[in-house]
Amino acid sequence: MNECPECGKENKADSKFCDNCGAPLNKSPSQTKESVVKISRTIEMVLGILGGVFGLIGGVFALVFAAFAPSVGGLGLSAVLASIVGIVGAVYVGQNPKIGGIILIISAIWLLISISVFGVLGAVLLGIAGLIALIRK
Ligand SMILES: [Zn+2]
Repeated sequence: MNECPECGKENKADSKFCDNCGAPLNKSPSQTKESVVKISRTIEMVLGILGGVFGLIGGVFALVFAAFAPSVGGLGLSAVLASIVGIVGAVYVGQNPKIGGIILIISAIWLLISISVFGVLGAVLLGIAGLIALIRK
């Protein structure tokens, strides 16, 4: 049912105007706006989480590689940490796009510094997610 905002009469769900007073029946605009914001943040979340997962893979790869070149081990661990921070940032974007975006960008730079070539894909995704979160309103 669709309640009239003017007189309170219950109208059919698909009617555009109130049967009783003729007032236009808008489906609560605040709710619609909220869902649009949530949909737009999904992009940043998905990109950020994907970036974090790629970063994790790169980090684990570096950790395995460390069996042959021990100096890479610390960097792999650092990359894993950066990826986890990135995923946290991606999840946080839904609540606070600005802080989430900054966390994403920090994790992207951190990941790139840690394992460079191994982390490029993850860092790019995290960076894009962070930038979208900061630029979009
Ligand atoms: Zn009415």
